[in-house]
Amino acid sequence: MKLALYDDYRLGIVKGEQIIDAEPLVAEKKYPCQDSMMYVIEHYDELKPALQELEASAQGKALAEVKLQAPVPKPGKIVAAPVNYQKHKAEMSLDKTIDDYGLFLKANSSIIGPGDTVELPFTDRRTDHELELGFVIGKKAKRVKAADALSYVFGYLCLCDVTVRGGEDRSTRKSFDTFTPIGPWIVTADEFGDPGNVDMVLTVNGEVRQKANTRDLIFDVPRLIEYASNVFTLFPGDVFATGTPEGVAPIEDGDVIVLDIERIGQLTVNVKDRD
Ligand code: MN
Repeated sequence: MKLALYDDYRLGIVKGEQIIDAEPLVAEKKYPCQDSMMYVIEHYDELKPALQELEASAQGKALAEVKLQAPVPKPGKIVAAPVNYQKHKAEMSLDKTIDDYGLFLKANSSIIGPGDTVELPFTDRRTDHELELGFVIGKKAKRVKAADALSYVFGYLCLCDVTVRGGEDRSTRKSFDTFTPIGPWIVTADEFGDPGNVDMVLTVNGEVRQKANTRDLIFDVPRLIEYASNVFTLFPGDVFATGTPEGVAPIEDGDVIVLDIERIGQLTVNVKDRD
């Protein structure tokens, strides 16, 4: 099932080119100020039959008529994988991988959604796109074994880990506001299947920049969860960036970035210089 937030952060089910309003299923139940997606993540097993019934029976409206929002507007944390593809290690002339670096965290305030705009903080420094399979944690995970790890995933999404190149710590260079576009929706893990063999492509202004498959990940999704949950407890709604393949390249004012990931769909964002 494809679950989205749209317009005034209403919950929606995406079905083909339509979106079905599912907000009534959660509006009375969620806690004050809690976003609807977070409620679904925490109660998916219980809500799933009603969501499926709605998906099968309800009329939606055209996706083109709504404004999709980031499907996880404020994750508790964004856990990210540095140098997790060998060919990206080579293009960056690095001699280390995730095995040496471990993980890093991005500020959750860097999240934006479909159709939003990445704002470049510098005109005199290189800032790159990074195409990544993202995923969302579905339940509390503490010292989970890789063999059990996929059962902790709520779903998958497209994620662009926007990055200023330079010498500062990754958490600085990758945490500027607008530097984590996610979406366009979450494909639930039960529909998505195996995250270990997923084609993905990123274009800028229609030109292919990155094209890869997650089978080439150094730490795959289960190993990332095992590694991370041995360090810190994972909570529902935590977002992971699994790392970028080769082909990272600069973006500039006026660019349009499209991430296209198999079994998810397309996430489009714009780029401009920060005011
Ligand atoms: Mn990255």
